[in-house]
Amino acid sequence: MLRYPLFEAYPGLAARLPRLALGLFPTPVARLERAGELLGAPELFVKRDDLSSPVYGGNKVRKLELLLAQALRQGKRSVVTAGAAGSNHVLATLLHARRLGLPGEALLLDQPPAAYVRRNLLLDLETGARLVHVPSAALLPPYIAWSMRGRFLGGLDRPFFITLGGSNPLSCIGYVNAAFELKEQVEAGLLPEPDFLFVALGTLGTASGLELGLRLAGMRTRVVGVAVVGRWACNARRWAGMIQRTACLLHGLDPSVPLIKVEPGELEVVHEMLGAGYAHFTEEGMEAVRLMREAEGIELDGTYTGKTFAGLARMVRETGLQGKRLLYWHTLNSVKLQPRKADHRLLPAPFHRYFDGRPREADEEMPEGGMGQGR
Ligand SMILES: *Cc1c(COP(=O)(O)O)cnc(C)c1O
Repeated sequence: MLRYPLFEAYPGLAARLPRLALGLFPTPVARLERAGELLGAPELFVKRDDLSSPVYGGNKVRKLELLLAQALRQGKRSVVTAGAAGSNHVLATLLHARRLGLPGEALLLDQPPAAYVRRNLLLDLETGARLVHVPSAALLPPYIAWSMRGRFLGGLDRPFFITLGGSNPLSCIGYVNAAFELKEQVEAGLLPEPDFLFVALGTLGTASGLELGLRLAGMRTRVVGVAVVGRWACNARRWAGMIQRTACLLHGLDPSVPLIKVEPGELEVVHEMLGAGYAHFTEEGMEAVRLMREAEGIELDGTYTGKTFAGLARMVRETGLQGKRLLYWHTLNSVKLQPRKADHRLLPAPFHRYFDGRPREADEEMPEGGMGQGR
């Protein structure tokens, strides 16, 4: 649990990079036999980052191990972050920060309504965090500036700010390490070296760390990023930029880490799965949700992982990846959390609209007692 494969490859990093052991690593890898059969991709595997923590798993845990370690090292006593109303990142941050004794504040933007948005809002509230509705993305910077004055927490010290999705060069290192972890699992014979690794592309942290890590680890696996946000945010140029800044940070911390350069043209982004935009569910994405639920007992979601798996399925169908070894990187939390008190009136008024009427049919979640965390 305390091992960090990246530090074994570059021992110089260990002393310079504070890290908290928040998660359970390595996360399992497994063959997706039934799903692979259905798709015509017999060499299909999954990396279960949904199981990264029994508190709240998914892909934010590896980032928070580094971000919250830095917050503690800087002596911060609270955390401010931002995201969409139903953000998994916000909930993960509030839950893990609270366990460290750091109270939180979340700046939340509107998004399409869904059952998971209701659940995450109520769970955010139960962490004791202060929730602030931000009326538009353009207003986010002044809201952040206001929160960083630390007025609500009453302390003299400023809170620690964690950006949208928790993605910055520091947190990307969590996924550089994940690539080294994968390499160890390949070497241990748990899966063959993948030809392609499919992962969601949101704020780019996960995919940037993985791409850089795979190169540093000397693997030939290529990352395919499935965009779940519009091109303004999710594109190869920005992805390459994030990789670059992460490589610079690592090289600065330990000059024995080579300063790898990645050109945008070398990166593979799938834009076709997005549909109407971030958190707008698509037919193809929800079909992937059903397929994985029925074939493997693994829960995907309509915002990130359904679209990602749909991108994999479509590429298998259309471009003949049949003979290839494919790895689907599962980034969604699978710890079942239900709000204790489902009273949305305790939320600030601008969030009440998420609780009007029924959420969309396609969004209904697994019935109680259904297949939970997969196998
Ligand atoms: C945040 C999130 C992502 C996106 O990861 P980025 O590092 O922001 O690109 C993917 N899947 C799920 C389930 C997430 O919550």
